Amino acid sequence: MLKNIDVLVVGAGLSGAVAARVLADAGKRVLIVEKRNHVGGNCYDEVDEAGILVHRYGPHLFHTDNAEAWEFMERFTPMDVYEHRVKADINGKKVSLPFSLETLYEIFPPNTASIHEDALLRNFEYGQKVTAGELLSHDEPDVRSVGQFVYDHIFKNYTMKQWDIDIKDLDVGVSARVPVYMNRDTRYFTDRFQGVPRYGYTKFFNNLLNHENIHIMLNTPAKEVFAVGENEMYFLGDKFNGIVIYTGSLDEIFDYVEDMLPYRSVNLKFETYPTKNYQEAATVNYPNNYAFTRITEFRKIHPYTNSDSTTILKEYPTAFKLGVNERYYPINNKDNQEIYENYYHRAHGVYNFYALGRLGEYRYYDMDDAITASLKLARRLVERL
Ligand SMILES: Cc1cc2nc3c(=O)[nH]c(=O)nc-3n(C[C@H](O)[C@H](O)[C@H](O)COP(=O)(O)OP(=O)(O)OC[C@H]3O[C@@H](n4cnc5c(N)ncnc54)[C@H](O)[C@@H]3O)c2cc1C
Repeated sequence: MLKNIDVLVVGAGLSGAVAARVLADAGKRVLIVEKRNHVGGNCYDEVDEAGILVHRYGPHLFHTDNAEAWEFMERFTPMDVYEHRVKADINGKKVSLPFSLETLYEIFPPNTASIHEDALLRNFEYGQKVTAGELLSHDEPDVRSVGQFVYDHIFKNYTMKQWDIDIKDLDVGVSARVPVYMNRDTRYFTDRFQGVPRYGYTKFFNNLLNHENIHIMLNTPAKEVFAVGENEMYFLGDKFNGIVIYTGSLDEIFDYVEDMLPYRSVNLKFETYPTKNYQEAATVNYPNNYAFTRITEFRKIHPYTNSDSTTILKEYPTAFKLGVNERYYPINNKDNQEIYENYYHRAHGVYNFYALGRLGEYRYYDMDDAITASLKLARRLVERL
């Protein structure tokens, strides 16, 4: 029975699951193999021992201007409107991020803040979004000094922690893309649709994958059932002529014949406290002190709980090491892109093999873009099959 499939999907994360559903709806028999013991990929969440719904691989907030991606989510889960707020700890003060005119007044005394605000609004439209890099290269000293503040206190050390990059190697104008908003909006995202699945992402995935044409094998690394040759594929030892949608890292399935694709990883430390309120906002960033980058308090994201406790997550960025931790963020630079291209050409040479998603395409995808890319590929395949 297992052998009788049209499509093999590797990975039950968002990219794989969305594609699987579209193909299943079109009548294709789909098998998903997932190496973890759960579906949902990095969106996976669960209720912890304290009764708090926590996101096991880091906080996930759904935000998009794309109505189709939002409606896709709503087809499988009610979405609670949720607007994310982030603070940064700057010299012990918790100030609003992204940096805005509001942040100026939270940091500086009112007369200094007002001088900076006037300088900014003389040069930029109210509501405009500019980068710290643009401010830094501006003619007017008062504008430059805001850019310098953002660069020094918000961007520099955070970037070093997150990416382990020596800041001296960064071209400031190019790299300091951290946004500064000429407004007083303290929401972290400004997208038209913002929310979280009411009962969590895992419930959304369970509904998404609940289809008679979809079979799932958990705890199954692709290599246990699948192999790829020069231009042919094998499933359970036999030549496979169906379609493969592969959402893992390409170096792994090609036995690392090219260099290994580098990633950043994150060590996650969950802590529970006997209080209903741990911090000022759902997420507080620590750009300049501590080894972690940020703390997220989950009951501020999912407030519907009877628990008297709160669970927080501290994120410690670290290098990805095979067999030790998980691949989180592709490290986009020219050398790594070249490695990826080499794998991509190999993948492209294999008829009916499609690399998809955050790992498969070696690029950072927000959830809405992951849905859009997955819908696009799956619909193209439905037309062809
Ligand atoms: C810390 C963090 C926070 C984020 N926050 C947000 C946010 O707030 N908003 C937002 O829009 N996006 C966010 N994202 C991005 C979001 O996680 C991605 O858009 C989404 O997970 C992409 O899904 P995917 O299926 O491509 O990848 P994944 O979720 O990584 O799924 C890939 C799946 O494939 C499986 N797999 C890999 N290799 C194999 C193999 N060889 N065999 C079998 N199975 C395999 C993996 O175990 C995994 O389950 C965040 C990402 C991270 C890392």
